[in-house]
Amino acid sequence: MSLPIEDYAPVVAYEINRGTGEHRPGNLDETLKLLLIEENPGDAVLIRSLLDETTSSQLDLQHVETLGAGIKKIGEENFHAIIADLDLPDSNGIDTLRRLVLASDNLPVIVMTHCDDDPAAVEMVKFGAQDYLVKGQSDGALILKTVRYAIERKLADQHLTYLSHYDKLTGLANRELFQDRLAQAVSRAERSGHLVALLFLDLDRFKSINDTLGHLVGDELLVAVSDRLKTCVRKVDTIARLGGDEFTIVLEEISSAFDAELVCRKIIKSLEQPIEIHGQEIYATTSIGVTFFPSDATEITGLIRNADAAMYRAKDEGRNKYQLFTADLNARAVERLSIESALRHAIEREELFLCYQPKVDLQTGKVLGVEALLRWQHSLRGLVSPVDFIPVAEETGLIVPIGEWVLRRACEDAIRWAQSGIEDVNVAVNLSARQFRQGDLQQTVEGLLYELQFDPNRLELEITESLLMDDTEASQVALYDLKALGLAIYLDDFGTGYSSLAYLKKFPIDGLKIDRSFIRDIPGDSDDEAITRAIVALSAALRLKVVAEGVETQAQLDFLLREGCDEVQGFLFSKPLPYEQFVDWVRTRNRTVLESHLAPS
Ligand code: C2E
Ligand code: MG
Ligand code: MG
Repeated sequence: MSLPIEDYAPVVAYEINRGTGEHRPGNLDETLKLLLIEENPGDAVLIRSLLDETTSSQLDLQHVETLGAGIKKIGEENFHAIIADLDLPDSNGIDTLRRLVLASDNLPVIVMTHCDDDPAAVEMVKFGAQDYLVKGQSDGALILKTVRYAIERKLADQHLTYLSHYDKLTGLANRELFQDRLAQAVSRAERSGHLVALLFLDLDRFKSINDTLGHLVGDELLVAVSDRLKTCVRKVDTIARLGGDEFTIVLEEISSAFDAELVCRKIIKSLEQPIEIHGQEIYATTSIGVTFFPSDATEITGLIRNADAAMYRAKDEGRNKYQLFTADLNARAVERLSIESALRHAIEREELFLCYQPKVDLQTGKVLGVEALLRWQHSLRGLVSPVDFIPVAEETGLIVPIGEWVLRRACEDAIRWAQSGIEDVNVAVNLSARQFRQGDLQQTVEGLLYELQFDPNRLELEITESLLMDDTEASQVALYDLKALGLAIYLDDFGTGYSSLAYLKKFPIDGLKIDRSFIRDIPGDSDDEAITRAIVALSAALRLKVVAEGVETQAQLDFLLREGCDEVQGFLFSKPLPYEQFVDWVRTRNRTVLESHLAPS
């Protein structure tokens, strides 16, 4: 009986794009092309005739007699499958199979054996054969069916492998495949003596794009970015998406760091043109960290850690930059990791506490406000500076619960000092950009004010300029929302960022805090004097309050008094103090101020 070949066609087949490894459903209507490797010409003729009588015209069977000839053919032409007797003049048994599987890459191999219960036959499948046929027991229909199913199984198999190795959204390699490729690149480089560069990319401000324009736009942006990345590397290089907005690139066979820098520049350049999504132009930039095998690290975990650390440095330095890994970053990376894990437990272990630093009004000499500054008393490290742990908390998102804790504690403490007789002293709390971008900050603050019945007039929030630069539209809205609660907003560390007048007018800001780096060298440094003078004048013009930070000397204070600064904060008056000491300090201070006012002049 002969059946048309279509009857054996698998329900679903996948077309494989050998270049990209991409699979998509296809069909097998085309001519079935088989390679038969068989030493015995008689057997070969038999198989051909069995197949010929089963199928009409859509079969192309090519026959060779040795493994060598077979491998040569595979290299020259495209086959759907291989049927092979493993005992050949130039190779035998499992060995033949191994070499065949290796040479044929993705092709299904069907092995011909002499007897059915050959334990070797089962073994074959373990070594990569898709199936086996028993000589003399197979008619044309069975052979075809076996071939068809072998092709189908192999394709389904590859499709599954594909799915588990590639990122669904962008079609780039996923984390698993990336690690695999990196490991392969490293071992190849070990042999060849070439360098491998690992690039770690993180899109700048992606979260805020996602938050404001929605996930669909965010997804399309990621796809567009990955398309641009593809234009910046060679075919041999691997681009992977690790998840979110994190990408990695493995550059193989490069001869110097310069090659990798070239790619980095290309990437940054390729993103200069806006990406258009639904008629909207979006500018995406990325920060890139770069590390090399073997000069920076010899293991893949080390390489990944290095590239990650370098990427963070690139972000710190202002984004849209690349940064090569350096040894001091390594120390930082290790440090960062250990801080991160300890920080996770800091709240529950009650290792965090607040110190308070008074702000003194220059007109009256009174304390009108106080800044809450976070402290971390770690069981082993001792007192950890916020300069060291706030950035880690921001990167990990821990800043959100920590920030909430700070806000609550600061308000509770302010209630306490008011009840103990220290009235009219506002509390200022620092907010980091990440908290701001969380989205529900306004609700959190509102909920807290309500719960504690805290007067919003007594609360000041300090934000930094970078926050405003991040995403003007969104930050503007968020700031106005916050402002609507009735609290005051101060721009912290003013002068260190963009210090743009235009920005100041756009946002509902109540006051500026001049960064302490400008105060440090006055009087004396004419630039710093000029800047400070300008900021004070600017604030007056815009009707903003102006506070000078880091005032340590009487000479600085005199200068600020002359220029008309509103408030000062610094070691000259007091260091940040734990609650009890702060309360004592204010009591004493108010008494002296009172006495000096009462004293005859
Ligand atoms: P900042 O908000 O600009 O805080 C002022 C910093 O200047 C404080 O450092 C304070 O101790 C220090 N300082 C005050 N007076 C003087 C002085 O006369 N001379 C010198 N040299 N320094 C002075 P601190 O407490 O180490 O805080 C550093 C930064 O950490 C803060 O800068 C703020 O950006 C951040 N930070 C602190 N607490 C929090 C918090 O609860 N949340 C967030 N997001 N950030 C915080
Ligand atoms: Mg501050
Ligand atoms: Mg500051």
